[in-house]
Amino acid sequence: MTQTPDTEGSFWPDTLAASIVAKRGDSHVVATGITPSGPIHLGNIREVLSGDAVYRALNHAGSSAKLIYIADTFDPLRSVYPFLPDDYSQYVGMPLYAIPDPEGCCENYAEHFLKPFLAALDELGVKVEAYRAHEMYKEGLYSDVAVEAVASSAKIAEIIGRVSGRELPEDWISYNPECSECGRITGPTVTGADPAGEWVDYECVCGHSGRADVRAGQGKLPWRVDWPARWKVLGVTAEPFGKDHAASGGSYETGSEIVRDVFGAEPPEPIVYEWIYLKGQGAMASSTGLAISINDILGMVPPAAVRCFVLRPRPEKHIDFDPVNGIPGLHDEYDKFEKTYFSPDDPVDEWSRRIYEISQPGEVPTEIPSQVPFVHLSVAAQAAGGSGEGALEVIGRSGYSVRESDRPAVLSQIERAKVWLSEHAPDAYKFSIQEVVPDAAGDLIPEQLQFLGKLSGVLAEVDWDPDTVQSSIYELGKENGLNAKKAFGAVYTSVIGRDSGPRAGYFISSLDRDWVVARMEEVGAL
Ligand SMILES: [Zn+2]
Ligand SMILES: [Zn+2]
Repeated sequence: MTQTPDTEGSFWPDTLAASIVAKRGDSHVVATGITPSGPIHLGNIREVLSGDAVYRALNHAGSSAKLIYIADTFDPLRSVYPFLPDDYSQYVGMPLYAIPDPEGCCENYAEHFLKPFLAALDELGVKVEAYRAHEMYKEGLYSDVAVEAVASSAKIAEIIGRVSGRELPEDWISYNPECSECGRITGPTVTGADPAGEWVDYECVCGHSGRADVRAGQGKLPWRVDWPARWKVLGVTAEPFGKDHAASGGSYETGSEIVRDVFGAEPPEPIVYEWIYLKGQGAMASSTGLAISINDILGMVPPAAVRCFVLRPRPEKHIDFDPVNGIPGLHDEYDKFEKTYFSPDDPVDEWSRRIYEISQPGEVPTEIPSQVPFVHLSVAAQAAGGSGEGALEVIGRSGYSVRESDRPAVLSQIERAKVWLSEHAPDAYKFSIQEVVPDAAGDLIPEQLQFLGKLSGVLAEVDWDPDTVQSSIYELGKENGLNAKKAFGAVYTSVIGRDSGPRAGYFISSLDRDWVVARMEEVGAL
């Protein structure tokens, strides 16, 4: 995979930070937000990582920036998602903070999905100040803007109607009360409001009529008003958001006009990002179940490589994530940036250097960590029958040296390889060493059996390293009139009971030599 650098040769967060500083000075609040309505997936992570990259770039450029994250806990549950019990239909329309945890382990629905997400952010090295939207309303952070918005409903309706083309009802009031009887935020219809914006009256689908105190947060602003209100309240100067909000007439455009004309503030600099697609399936979305949670991904890919994968492409480029075939390549690409960064000969280019630095969840290492290609780790893990320590031994035998201080990191990588193998990897990457001669060996032709007999003698003598083993098999096959497929096929069949497998040189040399020699001899004598 290659990537065209920015024209200036700098990494996009740095280019963007420079332009933000030029326009807005050097004190910044970068805001990110996600609705915790389901497991938070890799697509959502692009929002937070993009914000984190720009936040880091702003500080790197000498600004004073902070990164905040707002969980939209005051948003309603929109439908009974595929991962919810059927009886959750009773909670549709209620805000997420007020719905019980579907698994009963956390304070409420929103917290259930927030907890693992915040843990993932911590692992990814994203240091955010986290806010919960319902608390911001109930604790009074929104009081003044909410009252202002209700009092300015006619002006806001005019802006939304003109900019988005969306026809709003006459006497529309910019407020969604929370019904004090049934708890729904989608149930009430506003029937009247204080011209000064302090209260609204409503009738709910449940039959209840009541009055909501705007200042006390007994309801929330509709999305198109909530967003600009948040910019004003938190002083947001830059914010990543999905391309849907950036469309012409979309919520960024209406929000920009509302924040200027109603709240008297400037909209943040936009960081518009494309979706992350699950390869061959579509854009990730937790509402459809078409997603892999960030926590599951961190079980297969270390935080730095996740950051590198998501942040390397410019935000407007779409990203394909392929959990089946893409995982080894994703590790390899990160390893390549790391090698480039620590290359003793060439001075590293600015683009690669910044990608590596911004990919680090913590401090940038001072020397290159021990690298073992991911596919080799997956071979070693299987050759060792799943034991981490055993796999480390296999890795050592096959010519990779792992420093003592890097053993814990490599052991974690072995665990990640095992997760990938059991959850997603295609069969081509999977094998198990056969303890006794496999039945499939009975199908080998006489030329292959003779070849194996000779191979046992050769392998007993040669240097036990991947390249020598690989070329010994190939050369001996040629001398005996076997093409590569037949020669290597005979070796694989003897060891794993099928005629293809991981790259033979590395694979065979990772096994115990005496065992291999004995097995070739035994099959050769069939
Ligand atoms: Zn829970
Ligand atoms: Zn109600």
